[in-house]
Amino acid sequence: MGNIEIFSSTANFMTTFITLLILLFAVIYAGQDSKIGKGLWFLFSGLFLEFITSWVGFKITEYYNAGASINFLVFLELLMLLISMIFLALSASQILVNNVPEVPVISAITVIGLVAIVFFVFITPDGNMVANMRFIFPLAGFAYISASFWSQKSHQFNAGFITAGVITAVVAFFIGLKLVGVEYVMLKMWYLPALTYISLAVAVMMMKVDMMAKKVEAGELEIEKYNRRIEEIIKSSPFPIIISRLSDDRLILANNNAVKLFGIQPTEIERYRLKDFFADSENRKLLNERLEQEKEVQDFEILVKAFNGDTPFWLLTSANIIDYNYDIALYAAFQDITSRKNREALLKNQAIRDPLTSLYNRRYFEEEVSKKIGQARTTGGSYSVLMIDADHFKRVNDTYGHKIGDKVLIELSSTCERALRDNDIVARYGGEEFVIFLPDIDAEKARTVADRLRETIAKIVVYSDDNEPIHFTVSIGISSSEVSDNIDMLIKTADEALYRAKENGRNRSEIFTRADLDNFHADENSAHKDQTSQLHPIFAKEENQEISLLDGIGANHITEENTNIEEKEKDDGYYPILGIDDEDLK
Ligand code: GH3
Ligand code: MG
Ligand code: MG
Repeated sequence: MGNIEIFSSTANFMTTFITLLILLFAVIYAGQDSKIGKGLWFLFSGLFLEFITSWVGFKITEYYNAGASINFLVFLELLMLLISMIFLALSASQILVNNVPEVPVISAITVIGLVAIVFFVFITPDGNMVANMRFIFPLAGFAYISASFWSQKSHQFNAGFITAGVITAVVAFFIGLKLVGVEYVMLKMWYLPALTYISLAVAVMMMKVDMMAKKVEAGELEIEKYNRRIEEIIKSSPFPIIISRLSDDRLILANNNAVKLFGIQPTEIERYRLKDFFADSENRKLLNERLEQEKEVQDFEILVKAFNGDTPFWLLTSANIIDYNYDIALYAAFQDITSRKNREALLKNQAIRDPLTSLYNRRYFEEEVSKKIGQARTTGGSYSVLMIDADHFKRVNDTYGHKIGDKVLIELSSTCERALRDNDIVARYGGEEFVIFLPDIDAEKARTVADRLRETIAKIVVYSDDNEPIHFTVSIGISSSEVSDNIDMLIKTADEALYRAKENGRNRSEIFTRADLDNFHADENSAHKDQTSQLHPIFAKEENQEISLLDGIGANHITEENTNIEEKEKDDGYYPILGIDDEDLK
């Protein structure tokens, strides 16, 4: 390809040189990380060396005239052309898939070329052969490289290789023309190398694009493989697993176990959004927050509902944010823990409720009321405590037996509970004693509630085994926030008022007022409380005993007047069963 016309004017030289630089930048841009990248560097080096050789050829006459040995100059020129050819061969070896020609082949060609040069220049000088070698070396080099580019044509993303193949083949063809003697015309065409460099630069850029496309495709294949692996793992998992897209919350994948668990249509998975499964939006928010912070959540309890059922159930979930199918997705595996949760709830219930009446027990009452009192302290609201004790209850037991006594206690409890507001707290304090916390109600209003409650209880009829109607009454002691804001003190003073109600004839209520505090000594007065709360020896063990809650329920005969009142009317401010409306309490 050498063309001494390149050096005949500065413009020609500069043009060619700039195109060579452009090719250099294209090769640098193509990168060196692949075999092809390395091959392009060899190609550039070969072309650059050939370019310099043209310059040596251009200067040869000048140096000869200056007295340099012509043999040496010719030798140098041919050697450079040989090395340039070797660079092209190395380049071809990098680009060709099967790595041919390999090092031994290249070395053999080098040795043969070198011997030929030495022989025809120094040993048997042959002007013809020397002239031919000037073209044979580049011709061989370009033919090689062209063939190696072509060898890539069957591959995908081959546009750059084919272009480079065509360019180098054309160059080889022109050199061939020179070899057969059309050199004179060629010499005039100084721009041919520049044209070659620039078009090769374009081809190199195309190769770069091809390489990137190949990488993208390989990446896609990799993602495809990864997705399939995830799908297999998910499908074979014994746990329900789903994947949902983060962007729109839609399900993308659900294994059979998840399909069954959530009652979803396996063919229309994308119809479902993850948020539709959550029974509790707060619970969902918490999970999302945790995921946002940590990208991964282990053993998180969620309350969900299936599409084919209304009852929410508890699941333990482990969730991760993953890349799936070009989306950012949520991967979640589940374990059904409903039965565990139910057991926990039952245990908790057992711990805070009295087994006979199902009312809260004393401990829970005291804890809850302490909290409520704390709240009331900040808001300045009033509250009252009622202490209720069944009158002459021993008689009920003695006359009808303790089973009937139990029945009476159950009736009494359920009446209290139904009669009071949702935020009132009713508890069984002990034996046949009950305690009630009435928030937002002062002592006077509490008396109204207590009296109506007493009247309602007095109307309860429980039937004995012999179908004998049994009536009973209660006495009520009242204390309030006007007296104390301490739970123990409230109970003691309510108990003191209860004691007075008993003293004053039973079936009545008494208020412990602020003034009563003057002659009240909690410690001394607690003595009679202990007496009243003491269990009869035959019930001493009964408190912790499981008694069917259904015992005696059938015997409930609240008077018509009371049963007519719809329970749903019960509201925070009203006591409909007691016949107290909010006017009474104002
Ligand atoms: P009063 O309160 O009006 O002064 O008379 P009382 O007969 O009710 O006397 P006290 O409160 O001292 O007696 C409580 C009785 O309640 C003692 C016990 O036999 C009975 N009792 C306590 N717990 C239970 C229970 O769980 N079931 C039954 N059936 N009776 C109980
Ligand atoms: Mg009693
Ligand atoms: Mg008692």
